Amino acid sequence: MKSILATLVLALIPLTAQASMDPRTPPPRDAHSYANPQSIRVTHVDLDLVVSFEKKTLEGTAMLDVERTVPGTGPLILDSRALRIARIEASVNGRAWVDVKHTLGGNDEILGAPLSIDVPAKVKKVRITYSTSPEASGLQWLEPSMTAGKKSPFLFSQSQAIHARSWIPVQDSPSVRMTYTARLRTPKDLFAVMSAENDANLKGQRDGDYTFRMRQPIPAYLIAIAVGDIAFKPMSKRTGIFAEPSVVESAASEFSDTERMMVVAEKLYGPYRWGRYDILVLPPSFPFGGMENPRVTFATPTVIAGDKSLVSLIAHELAHSWSGNLVTNATWSDLWLNEGFTVYVERRIVEEVYGRDFEQMEAVLGIQILQGDLDRLEDRDESLRLELAGRDPEDSFSQVAYEKGGMFLRHLEEAFGRDRFDRFLRGYFDHFAFRSITTNDFLAYLKANLLDKDPAAAAKVPVEEWVFKAGVPAGAPKPQSDAFVKVEAQARPWLDGKAPVTSIDTKAWTTQEWQHFLKFMPEGLGTARMAELDAAFGLTNRGNSEVAFEWLLLSIRNGYAPADARLEQYLVTIGRRKLIRPLYEELMKTEAGKKRASEIYAKARPGYHPQVVATIDSVLGTGQNR
Ligand SMILES: [Zn+2]
Repeated sequence: MKSILATLVLALIPLTAQASMDPRTPPPRDAHSYANPQSIRVTHVDLDLVVSFEKKTLEGTAMLDVERTVPGTGPLILDSRALRIARIEASVNGRAWVDVKHTLGGNDEILGAPLSIDVPAKVKKVRITYSTSPEASGLQWLEPSMTAGKKSPFLFSQSQAIHARSWIPVQDSPSVRMTYTARLRTPKDLFAVMSAENDANLKGQRDGDYTFRMRQPIPAYLIAIAVGDIAFKPMSKRTGIFAEPSVVESAASEFSDTERMMVVAEKLYGPYRWGRYDILVLPPSFPFGGMENPRVTFATPTVIAGDKSLVSLIAHELAHSWSGNLVTNATWSDLWLNEGFTVYVERRIVEEVYGRDFEQMEAVLGIQILQGDLDRLEDRDESLRLELAGRDPEDSFSQVAYEKGGMFLRHLEEAFGRDRFDRFLRGYFDHFAFRSITTNDFLAYLKANLLDKDPAAAAKVPVEEWVFKAGVPAGAPKPQSDAFVKVEAQARPWLDGKAPVTSIDTKAWTTQEWQHFLKFMPEGLGTARMAELDAAFGLTNRGNSEVAFEWLLLSIRNGYAPADARLEQYLVTIGRRKLIRPLYEELMKTEAGKKRASEIYAKARPGYHPQVVATIDSVLGTGQNR
């Protein structure tokens, strides 16, 4: 059953802004959380957990500091999903504890279950003894065979959007910020990383006992954990790589521009406020490109291409240190405030570090994938601000939030001039630092600090249309890539049968030029032409994950059998949703493809992350849920 509660809650929200200028004003209602921060809220979480790879559980206590925002004796309501609650105690002073009653509500398919705790009026701390389910949606427990080293198991979390509740009983709304501390007990030969200060752990030996502290208030979706055979290599004074020992060197050399990216971002948008910036490179089943966990970005190994051609992913995750982690969407309906701003900031960093030509290639590729989503999506999912009541917040993660959001900011930049827009954005990050805001909060700030100051420039940007309407307004920025124009000019004579395949000079092509070339291939290219390309450029054996992806997509479309074994190997070894979902979707378009999809999926499924399993189950129509 879809959530009735969520629908009711949303109906009560006024559409006008509740400008939360004071960080202590009640947060807006969040349709994806049962929590009641409007009356009592969590301000700090202290975790003490045992990590058991045998049982695939985290087990121990979460001690929450709570603060009543309105006086009273009402319950504290937390989010939870498939947690086993053993005991709940409350304390006024943190020394004397009393058992308190709790009620675990019915489980909603999307939201999980509300955990309602009877807390006396003056209570300051609540201690929950619990364990997670082996199927926790926010955790992936990897067998040793699924790691690079093949010897040790690996655990990592992915809490965004609403999966923190599957491993911590907490107010799991991006509108609720909290600090956290943690102590983790792990097998002695493994190392633990969290999105928090890890410094003390780095100095000591591996001993299976690790402590962490996050001093800045963050929403629960940014609490992150990873445990495995993890080594560390510094890249600069404040940046470094966590990864399995066999991956750490290649990752450190691939991402060696990270410090430069930080310097660029700080110059544009103000100081980096999180201390260190490290990157944890995960095993290939990591479901996303990256996750902007504060202080420690979690990243897929599929961007280690050997030539830094895919490191805009790091620029993206780093950009979240401002857009997303510092200023956060208050609800998932406002996701574009995180992702659209981040795409914009990412491109600015990429332009400074790798040049305008490279940035333009990325922008054109971005628009192409946005167009793909616009062709597929219903109108209601094409506005920047979305209505998501009763729906899975995952539905908000389309290229609309990312690329359309980024284009909107680019449009403002073009209308007001780069200098003025840079000053505006820097002021915005300072003004809302460490707060969670709604789309309307942003629009009010935009009006007062940019639009009203120059009505002539403001008239060029249809703000309401960008934010609340489907599609992309006329007059939107149109990135142009000269490099891609040249790629097309090289491809055409061969496609027209006027030149041999060897006339295409690909020697200096970057990953992006290859991507564009393969995307440029017409429908129905045919197996003979596919074979020509393969013979000339060895595309079936390419290791680069993005080039391989485009080639495999073409191979499915054209029924190019020689790439079939590579397709299977790709889908079985990589678990990054963006790189695998479109391949399954393409397979599902023919009867033969459907058969092949289920054969491959049978082998691949045990290695996929639970959230990716849910996605691919639904693509293949085999899922129980969603
Ligand atoms: Zn992002």
